[in-house]
Amino acid sequence: METSEKISKLHFLLFPFMAHGHMIPTLDMAKLFATKGGKSTILTTPLNSILFEKQIKSFNHENPKLENITIKILNFPCTELGLPQGCENTDFIFSSPDLSKGDLNLKFLLSMTYFEEQLEQLMETMKPDCLVANMFFPWATKVAEKFNVPRLVFHGTGFFSLCASHCLRLHKPYKKVASSCEPFVIPDLPGDIVITEEQVIEKDEESVMGKFMKEIRDSERNSFGVLVNSFYELEPAYSDFFKSFVAKRAWNIGPLSLGNREFKEKAGRGKKASIDEHECMEWLDSKICDSVIYVSFGTLTSFNNEQLIEIASGLEMSGHDFVWVVKENGSQGEKEEWLPEGFEERTKGKGLIIRGWAPQVLILDHQAIGGFLTHCGWNSLLEGIASGLPMVTWPVGAEQFYNEKLVTQVLKTGLSVGVKKMVKVVGDFISGEKVEKAVRDVMVGEERRSHANELAEMAKNAVKEGGSSDIELNRLMEDLKVVKFQNENG
Ligand code: UDP
Repeated sequence: METSEKISKLHFLLFPFMAHGHMIPTLDMAKLFATKGGKSTILTTPLNSILFEKQIKSFNHENPKLENITIKILNFPCTELGLPQGCENTDFIFSSPDLSKGDLNLKFLLSMTYFEEQLEQLMETMKPDCLVANMFFPWATKVAEKFNVPRLVFHGTGFFSLCASHCLRLHKPYKKVASSCEPFVIPDLPGDIVITEEQVIEKDEESVMGKFMKEIRDSERNSFGVLVNSFYELEPAYSDFFKSFVAKRAWNIGPLSLGNREFKEKAGRGKKASIDEHECMEWLDSKICDSVIYVSFGTLTSFNNEQLIEIASGLEMSGHDFVWVVKENGSQGEKEEWLPEGFEERTKGKGLIIRGWAPQVLILDHQAIGGFLTHCGWNSLLEGIASGLPMVTWPVGAEQFYNEKLVTQVLKTGLSVGVKKMVKVVGDFISGEKVEKAVRDVMVGEERRSHANELAEMAKNAVKEGGSSDIELNRLMEDLKVVKFQNENG
């Protein structure tokens, strides 16, 4: 084989954190690499491999001319690590009503070091050309370095929140305000972004989490660079800022969800849907364009019954048709005490409740969907943007408040439901009246909608051949080939 031909085939080892919000875009990434001649092996645990298998099998079958995607299963003995049996995914933690979620989540995060030895062995035997490892595996940089393999970091979020975190950490402006609810502008960050202390995360650098985050940043500095699921036109100022002041190198290669073009691909992302996808599409087909609001809070948020009742009332009072995804978390009571009396009879034909997992991208792409009430998880946000939807923002935790600011203050395609602060995993309480008002407003705002449509066009163009994300991806492949060539030729 010619050297150039050998070099053109890159082998990626992809190691996602075991949470749907990380695993889903990782598989999308593997498919994307395949379109550029890259071969991918995804590392994961036994239970998580089941979530990937069907999609991978189908991708390999439908694309016989592309390099295969394969899975390598890692050992993760939960009970030996002090975790409950079967706790291989954050979904397990956040779906169990009896567990102390914050503590267990931290324990789960810290137990990821268990993989270090296995990764080292795999690097030695598989000799990949690149390791794409999640941010929560800071030790992966050292392992990769040992084998001279470039390690890329995947955070799973966008440039805006990465830059906001950087500026907040550097300047700690929240220490200079009189109260935790006093708004202030984030120093240095383009756009005069306003936030409050109670929406800022990772303030305690001395806590276990704070120290872990420092390890993550150090390992990122020593890595080859950062892969970002975003596209340049969405957040140019923040992409430039990140590349100039935060990371050594970064490539924006998203929206990754747009790589799923076929019905089956869109429907199959993540878990098996709790609704027949065709029935769901038929229901939406019966609705007029832009008339339905889609409501989902991602995979980790569990609201209590009181909050769910307010959401239900708000949706009913808004008068709009809706698709509402309610996570099955056991806390909702056997008799579904989370629904107002007679709710389903009154909203029959107007509302569709999906209990469990929704085929989200399929739904968001349907022309009947005209708005998205979202918790502002980055994947959901970007999927909503790629579908041209104005949004009601309801951040709950993590970096979701930062993502909200991008949508409401920079892109201006979103409207806040009025959440002021994060209250662990449950979230700030919001009344039905607030839900009603935000839904009504977002569904009628024509300027917001037309701007959202423009962004969706830009997103689609970014991933087309010659688009900004496609160019970045080509550049990444070239950069990695240079390293491969250098490694192979001393
Ligand atoms: N998702 C889905 N169906 C659901 C819930 C979530 O397909 O019922 C997908 C969603 O499309 C997104 C991911 O799961 O790709 C959730 O990631 P996000 O960053 O939005 O939120 P997280 O769950 O990590 O808070």
